Amino acid sequence: MSAEVLIVEDEAAIAELLAINIRHAGMTVRVALDAEQARREVDKQLPKLVLLDWMLPGQSGVQLARQWRADERTRDLPIIMLTARAAEDDRVAGLDAGADDYLTKPFSTKELMARVRAVLRRRAPEALDKPIESAGIHLDPATRRVTVGGRDIKLSPTEFKLLHFLMAHPERVHNRTQVLDRVWGDHVFIEERTVDVHVKRLREALRAVGCDAAVETVRGAGYRFNARAGSLSGAAAASS
Ligand code: CA
Repeated sequence: MSAEVLIVEDEAAIAELLAINIRHAGMTVRVALDAEQARREVDKQLPKLVLLDWMLPGQSGVQLARQWRADERTRDLPIIMLTARAAEDDRVAGLDAGADDYLTKPFSTKELMARVRAVLRRRAPEALDKPIESAGIHLDPATRRVTVGGRDIKLSPTEFKLLHFLMAHPERVHNRTQVLDRVWGDHVFIEERTVDVHVKRLREALRAVGCDAAVETVRGAGYRFNARAGSLSGAAAASS
Protein backbone atom coordinates (compact mmCIF):
# COMPACT_ATOMS: atom_id res chain seq x y z
CA MET A 1 0.00 0.00 0.00
CA SER A 2 1.62 3.26 -1.08
CA ALA A 3 -0.75 5.46 0.91
CA GLU A 4 0.64 8.71 2.15
CA VAL A 5 0.02 9.55 5.79
CA LEU A 6 0.24 13.02 7.29
CA ILE A 7 1.17 13.06 10.97
CA VAL A 8 0.20 16.23 12.86
CA GLU A 9 1.93 16.05 16.23
CA ASP A 10 3.99 18.66 18.09
CA GLU A 11 5.84 16.15 20.27
CA ALA A 12 8.83 15.07 18.19
CA ALA A 13 9.29 11.73 19.97
CA ILE A 14 5.69 10.66 19.34
CA ALA A 15 5.78 11.92 15.74
CA GLU A 16 8.95 9.89 15.16
CA LEU A 17 7.44 6.75 16.70
CA LEU A 18 4.37 7.10 14.49
CA ALA A 19 6.48 7.76 11.40
CA ILE A 20 8.72 4.74 11.94
CA ASN A 21 5.76 2.36 12.29
CA ILE A 22 3.88 3.72 9.30
CA ARG A 23 6.98 3.64 7.08
CA HIS A 24 7.61 0.11 8.25
CA ALA A 25 4.15 -0.81 6.88
CA GLY A 26 5.22 0.48 3.47
CA MET A 27 3.47 3.86 3.54
CA THR A 28 5.08 7.23 3.05
CA VAL A 29 4.93 9.85 5.79
CA ARG A 30 4.92 13.62 6.13
CA VAL A 31 5.06 15.32 9.53
CA ALA A 32 3.56 18.67 10.55
CA LEU A 33 4.27 20.19 13.97
CA ASP A 34 1.22 22.43 14.20
CA ALA A 35 -2.12 23.19 12.56
CA GLU A 36 -0.68 25.91 10.34
CA GLN A 37 1.95 23.58 8.88
CA ALA A 38 -0.64 20.78 8.56
CA ARG A 39 -2.91 23.06 6.52
CA ARG A 40 -0.02 23.93 4.19
CA GLU A 41 0.84 20.25 3.70
CA VAL A 42 -2.77 19.35 2.88
CA ASP A 43 -3.07 22.36 0.52
CA LYS A 44 0.01 21.07 -1.31
CA GLN A 45 -1.21 17.49 -1.62
CA LEU A 46 -4.10 15.51 -0.14
CA PRO A 47 -2.81 12.62 1.99
CA LYS A 48 -4.65 9.28 2.18
CA LEU A 49 -4.92 9.56 5.96
CA VAL A 50 -4.21 12.11 8.70
CA LEU A 51 -3.13 11.21 12.23
CA LEU A 52 -4.14 14.33 14.10
CA ASP A 53 -3.10 15.17 17.64
CA TRP A 54 -5.80 16.82 19.72
CA MET A 55 -3.46 19.04 21.76
CA LEU A 56 -1.40 21.25 19.45
CA PRO A 57 0.18 24.65 20.10
CA GLY A 58 -2.16 27.34 18.75
CA GLN A 59 -5.14 25.87 16.95
CA SER A 60 -6.28 22.49 18.34
CA GLY A 61 -6.64 19.30 16.35
CA VAL A 62 -10.43 19.36 16.85
CA GLN A 63 -10.69 22.86 15.34
CA LEU A 64 -8.51 21.79 12.43
CA ALA A 65 -10.63 18.67 11.81
CA ARG A 66 -13.78 20.84 11.75
CA GLN A 67 -12.20 23.17 9.18
CA TRP A 68 -11.21 20.29 6.95
CA ARG A 69 -14.71 18.80 7.17
CA ALA A 70 -16.27 22.13 6.19
CA ASP A 71 -14.15 22.39 3.04
CA GLU A 72 -15.29 20.62 -0.13
CA ARG A 73 -11.77 19.52 -1.07
CA THR A 74 -10.92 18.00 2.31
CA ARG A 75 -14.28 16.85 3.65
CA ASP A 76 -13.60 13.18 2.85
CA LEU A 77 -10.07 13.23 4.28
CA PRO A 78 -9.73 10.23 6.62
CA ILE A 79 -8.73 11.45 10.10
CA ILE A 80 -7.65 9.48 13.16
CA MET A 81 -7.57 11.68 16.23
CA LEU A 82 -4.75 11.16 18.72
CA THR A 83 -5.71 12.11 22.22
CA ALA A 84 -4.47 11.89 25.77
CA ARG A 85 -8.03 12.45 26.90
CA ALA A 86 -9.92 9.33 27.82
CA ALA A 87 -13.17 10.94 28.97
CA GLU A 88 -16.11 9.82 26.88
CA ASP A 89 -17.33 13.37 26.24
CA ASP A 90 -13.97 14.27 24.72
CA ARG A 91 -13.93 11.22 22.47
CA VAL A 92 -17.45 11.96 21.30
CA ALA A 93 -16.38 15.58 20.66
CA GLY A 94 -13.57 14.24 18.48
CA LEU A 95 -15.97 12.09 16.47
CA ASP A 96 -18.43 14.98 16.25
CA ALA A 97 -15.67 17.18 14.84
CA GLY A 98 -15.48 14.71 11.97
CA ALA A 99 -12.74 12.30 13.02
CA ASP A 100 -13.21 8.77 11.66
CA ASP A 101 -11.66 7.20 14.69
CA TYR A 102 -9.59 8.11 17.71
CA LEU A 103 -6.64 6.64 19.52
CA THR A 104 -5.96 7.36 23.19
CA LYS A 105 -2.35 7.88 24.26
CA PRO A 106 -0.43 5.89 25.24
CA PHE A 107 -1.26 3.40 22.48
CA SER A 108 0.46 0.27 21.26
CA THR A 109 1.90 0.28 17.74
CA LYS A 110 -0.19 -2.81 17.02
CA GLU A 111 -3.35 -0.91 17.89
CA LEU A 112 -2.20 2.10 15.86
CA MET A 113 -1.57 0.04 12.73
CA ALA A 114 -4.82 -1.93 13.11
CA ARG A 115 -6.72 1.35 13.14
CA VAL A 116 -4.76 2.83 10.24
CA ARG A 117 -5.50 -0.27 8.15
CA ALA A 118 -9.16 -0.29 9.19
CA VAL A 119 -9.68 3.38 8.22
CA LEU A 120 -7.88 2.93 4.89
CA ARG A 121 -9.83 -0.26 4.18
CA ARG A 122 -13.24 1.25 4.81
CA ARG A 123 -12.27 4.18 2.60
CA ALA A 124 -11.42 1.79 -0.22
CA PRO A 125 -13.53 2.53 -3.30
CA GLU A 126 -16.62 0.41 -3.95
CA ALA A 127 -17.09 1.81 -7.45
CA LEU A 128 -18.53 -1.44 -8.77
CA ASP A 129 -21.52 -1.34 -6.45
CA LYS A 130 -24.88 -0.47 -7.96
CA PRO A 131 -26.93 2.57 -6.92
CA ILE A 132 -29.73 1.91 -4.41
CA GLU A 133 -33.10 3.66 -4.24
CA SER A 134 -35.20 3.08 -1.13
CA ALA A 135 -37.52 5.08 1.17
CA GLY A 136 -37.09 8.04 -1.17
CA ILE A 137 -33.32 8.02 -0.70
CA HIS A 138 -31.02 7.54 -3.68
CA LEU A 139 -27.49 6.34 -2.90
CA ASP A 140 -24.84 5.97 -5.58
CA PRO A 141 -21.66 4.20 -4.40
CA ALA A 142 -19.80 5.09 -7.60
CA THR A 143 -20.14 8.84 -7.07
CA ARG A 144 -20.57 8.59 -3.27
CA ARG A 145 -23.62 10.82 -3.58
CA VAL A 146 -26.82 10.59 -1.58
CA THR A 147 -29.83 12.52 -2.86
CA VAL A 148 -33.45 12.90 -1.77
CA GLY A 149 -35.81 14.40 -4.32
CA GLY A 150 -32.78 15.70 -6.21
CA ARG A 151 -31.31 17.36 -3.10
CA ASP A 152 -27.77 16.41 -2.12
CA ILE A 153 -27.31 15.04 1.40
CA LYS A 154 -23.86 15.71 2.80
CA LEU A 155 -22.51 12.71 4.73
CA SER A 156 -19.09 11.90 6.11
CA PRO A 157 -17.50 8.78 4.58
CA THR A 158 -18.33 6.73 7.67
CA GLU A 159 -21.98 7.81 7.64
CA PHE A 160 -22.13 7.13 3.92
CA LYS A 161 -20.84 3.62 4.48
CA LEU A 162 -23.25 3.12 7.38
CA LEU A 163 -26.22 4.23 5.25
CA HIS A 164 -24.98 2.11 2.35
CA PHE A 165 -24.83 -0.97 4.57
CA LEU A 166 -28.28 -0.37 6.07
CA MET A 167 -29.88 0.34 2.66
CA ALA A 168 -28.26 -2.73 1.14
CA HIS A 169 -29.74 -4.88 3.93
CA PRO A 170 -33.17 -3.35 4.58
CA GLU A 171 -35.76 -4.51 7.12
CA ARG A 172 -33.29 -6.71 8.98
CA VAL A 173 -32.27 -5.68 12.49
CA HIS A 174 -28.50 -5.34 12.88
CA ASN A 175 -27.00 -5.23 16.33
CA ARG A 176 -24.08 -2.90 17.07
CA THR A 177 -21.50 -5.66 16.78
CA GLN A 178 -22.75 -6.56 13.31
CA VAL A 179 -22.75 -2.91 12.25
CA LEU A 180 -19.18 -2.45 13.54
CA ASP A 181 -18.11 -5.56 11.72
CA ARG A 182 -19.64 -4.56 8.39
CA VAL A 183 -19.08 -0.81 8.42
CA TRP A 184 -15.85 -0.45 10.36
CA GLY A 185 -14.39 -3.76 9.26
CA ASP A 186 -11.97 -4.07 12.13
CA HIS A 187 -13.92 -3.43 15.28
CA VAL A 188 -11.47 -4.87 17.78
CA PHE A 189 -10.65 -1.46 19.24
CA ILE A 190 -13.83 0.44 18.51
CA GLU A 191 -16.54 0.77 21.12
CA GLU A 192 -20.20 0.15 20.40
CA ARG A 193 -20.95 3.70 21.50
CA THR A 194 -19.20 4.81 18.29
CA VAL A 195 -22.01 3.23 16.27
CA ASP A 196 -24.62 5.26 18.17
CA VAL A 197 -22.72 8.50 17.54
CA HIS A 198 -22.58 7.88 13.80
CA VAL A 199 -26.23 6.75 13.62
CA LYS A 200 -27.19 9.97 15.40
CA ARG A 201 -25.23 12.05 12.89
CA LEU A 202 -26.67 10.09 9.96
CA ARG A 203 -30.20 10.72 11.25
CA GLU A 204 -29.51 14.43 11.69
CA ALA A 205 -28.41 14.65 8.05
CA LEU A 206 -31.51 12.75 6.92
CA ARG A 207 -33.82 14.81 9.15
CA ALA A 208 -32.98 17.89 7.06
CA VAL A 209 -34.86 16.24 4.17
CA GLY A 210 -37.49 14.49 6.32
CA CYS A 211 -36.04 11.00 5.84
CA ASP A 212 -34.70 10.24 9.32
CA ALA A 213 -37.55 7.77 10.00
CA ALA A 214 -35.89 5.36 7.56
CA VAL A 215 -33.15 4.60 10.10
CA GLU A 216 -34.94 2.97 13.01
CA THR A 217 -33.71 2.09 16.47
CA VAL A 218 -35.02 -1.28 17.60
CA ARG A 219 -34.91 -1.08 21.37
CA GLY A 220 -32.43 -3.49 22.90
CA ALA A 221 -31.66 -5.03 19.51
CA GLY A 222 -29.99 -2.56 17.16
CA TYR A 223 -30.76 -0.66 13.99
CA ARG A 224 -32.91 -1.27 10.94
CA PHE A 225 -33.46 0.45 7.60
CA ASN A 226 -37.19 0.82 6.97
CA ALA A 227 -37.62 0.74 3.19
CA ARG A 228 -41.26 1.86 3.52
CA ALA A 229 -40.42 5.01 5.47
CA GLY A 230 -39.62 8.23 3.70
CA SER A 231 -40.75 11.77 3.28
CA LEU A 232 -43.57 12.92 1.01
CA SER A 233 -41.02 14.65 -1.19
CA GLY A 234 -38.93 11.49 -1.27
CA ALA A 235 -41.94 9.33 -2.15
CA ALA A 236 -42.98 11.81 -4.83
CA ALA A 237 -39.48 11.82 -6.28
CA ALA A 238 -39.38 8.03 -6.26
CA SER A 239 -42.74 7.67 -8.02
CA SER A 240 -42.22 10.40 -10.61
CA1 CA B 1 0.48 17.40 21.47
